[in-house]
Amino acid sequence: QWIFLNNEFVKKEDAKISVYDHGFLYGDGIFEGIRVYSGNIFRMEDHMDRLYQSAKSILLTIPYSQAELSELVVKTVDKNELSDAYIRLVVSRGVGDLGLDPYKCKQASLVIIVEPLVIFPKHLYETGIDIVTVATRRNRPDVLSPMVKSLNYLNNVLVRIEAHLANVSEALMLNDQGYVAEGSADNVFILKGSKLLTPPGYIGALEGITRNAIIEIAADLGYDVREEPFTRHDVYTADEVFLTGTAAEVIAVVKVDGRVIGEGVPGHHTKKLLVEFRKKVVTDGVK
Ligand code: PLP
Repeated sequence: QWIFLNNEFVKKEDAKISVYDHGFLYGDGIFEGIRVYSGNIFRMEDHMDRLYQSAKSILLTIPYSQAELSELVVKTVDKNELSDAYIRLVVSRGVGDLGLDPYKCKQASLVIIVEPLVIFPKHLYETGIDIVTVATRRNRPDVLSPMVKSLNYLNNVLVRIEAHLANVSEALMLNDQGYVAEGSADNVFILKGSKLLTPPGYIGALEGITRNAIIEIAADLGYDVREEPFTRHDVYTADEVFLTGTAAEVIAVVKVDGRVIGEGVPGHHTKKLLVEFRKKVVTDGVK
């Protein structure tokens, strides 16, 4: 397996970063996760736009232009000879000294990893998953925009710890006002009657690329899709609930905090949206 590190391809065993890197010391950096489906890099441009916008937001200079970096991503996929894979792009502030001062870091560090990834076991897509809501809150969007995929994922990690302790594979975070925000690395949708709802960005949800694809697909299919705040009660009483994300794709939720959703099996609308999503992932992107 080949990793692109700063300006060259190195073997996985040799891909090492300094302990003085501010990504390591302070979580000072950003990342992206992208999927390759049958050789098609799904919505690559949207992911690259988001990466460069994240960088701009935290005043981080990526050492390549967006076109150059996109080219490098394609090269890393090719070099690893994988047609179905997950791409992880990480850009940190780079090597500085022990102090916090980011201006001591002269050059950002860049890593591109391409590997097969399984986040949820296959059978869970057939059965759906149980989730819980947790005490960890999504940070306020006016403090740090959820659109910045920063390397500070401690909240998200704490969500996964709470999920693990509750014996489930994922959990939902609420925002500081108690509205449902999102999962640890995925967005949430609820279907209630004819309405398909997902929290708006200002609630504290990342406006995910999978989420956007589902909004488009659902609108094309004639659903009444809305970005609207909702509470845990709305989730408990929804007809269908599902999560979306680059890694998770579209996965049905069949129980939330012990409340069975619908019939306790993946709902037919969720299944229909997943079928349409799977058609899109091989056509929509960069070959
Ligand atoms: N929410 C968070 C916090 C995430 O990290 C991710 C993953 O990227 C998502 C939602 C889903 O977004 P996307 O569909 O762009 O992967």
